[in-house]
Amino acid sequence: MRAPDRAGTPDPDGMPDPDGMQDPDGFREALLDHFDRTRRDLPWRSGRTPYRVLVSEVMLQQTRAATVAPYFVRWLRRFPGWEELADASWDEVMRQWKGLGYYARARNLQRTATLVRERHGGRLPKEPATLRELPGVGEYTAGAVASIAFGLPVPAVDGNVRRVLCRLLDEGDPSPARLRAEAARLLDLRRPGDFNEAMMELGATVCTPRRPSCRACPVAGWCRARAAGTVPDRPLPRPRRKMRRAAYAVAVALDGTGRTLLTRRPARGLLAGTWEFPARELAEGTDAAAAVRGRLAEAGVVGKVAAALEPVRRTFTHLHAVYHPVVVECATEALDQPTLADDQVLRTSFRHLDELPLPVAQQRIADRARQWLQGSGRPVTLDRR
Ligand code: SF4
Repeated sequence: MRAPDRAGTPDPDGMPDPDGMQDPDGFREALLDHFDRTRRDLPWRSGRTPYRVLVSEVMLQQTRAATVAPYFVRWLRRFPGWEELADASWDEVMRQWKGLGYYARARNLQRTATLVRERHGGRLPKEPATLRELPGVGEYTAGAVASIAFGLPVPAVDGNVRRVLCRLLDEGDPSPARLRAEAARLLDLRRPGDFNEAMMELGATVCTPRRPSCRACPVAGWCRARAAGTVPDRPLPRPRRKMRRAAYAVAVALDGTGRTLLTRRPARGLLAGTWEFPARELAEGTDAAAAVRGRLAEAGVVGKVAAALEPVRRTFTHLHAVYHPVVVECATEALDQPTLADDQVLRTSFRHLDELPLPVAQQRIADRARQWLQGSGRPVTLDRR
């Protein structure tokens, strides 16, 4: 760390510099020195290419680094560059993404791979404004990629950086424009990518939401909230997001050979493009078995309700969902009705469900159905691979 050189010098265990952020050079040096000594060994920090940087940044949106690390390694093995990703089938992309959630991110990455090939000559553009034209790339991701992959002096304010800045500035709820301006003012122009990463890393490992390690913080001397004793109130808690509750009747259709029916979710929105058992939202007081029969009838499938399985619960960003799976036994020909478009419906054996990129709730429904089948004595083959 930079040696103290004036009265009122930053001192993590003493009083802060009364000038606060009047010494941005010292702040940068302290932050980067700490980062150089303590940075975590994460897989996207070696062999950096613009592709690897963008993939990691997209994976890290809403997901912790420790969770992302094995996915990133696996993804790079399967899709080492833009070409391989652009050429992959959607189901293969989903298979590699399965478990990370927020599937729209995977779809955006693949669309970006296609755009990079078709519009940008196989190279990711450098300029933040052009990066923002890519699907799923917002201001933060454009700033992170421009600075980390290309060394451009652009700030990047994610949730971690916002929290650090709120505390450094001792402000409860600064506007995004104010945060961005402050991040730009503090940015180290010689090492913009490292600076942005150092701020994120500080937020992830030291200046954590609860119980920040102020005594070990390399920039404690610049922290106005610490000086004012307001750290627990910075940033101010955001109003709780209103969660919707919804119940769904889920049709687990089953024919005599162990086949079932899946439908594709819309390309946009929750769980975009993933496969699911046909479902219908349940109005209060509605019978799940009747709803399931109605849903299957839309696909031209008629059958007999055999069992109602234990519900599956899943919480998404805005939604508490409860799925009520109902097993419906159908004649084999019934599942072959070509009522829905072929790319929107899949007739597949239970044996092959594990190979599909099913979201977590659908996987649990499949597991419940499999258990029921195994205990039911039905003469169908359900061996896993
Ligand atoms: Fe550092 Fe604590 Fe201030 Fe966060 S709140 S910047 S950990 S001194």
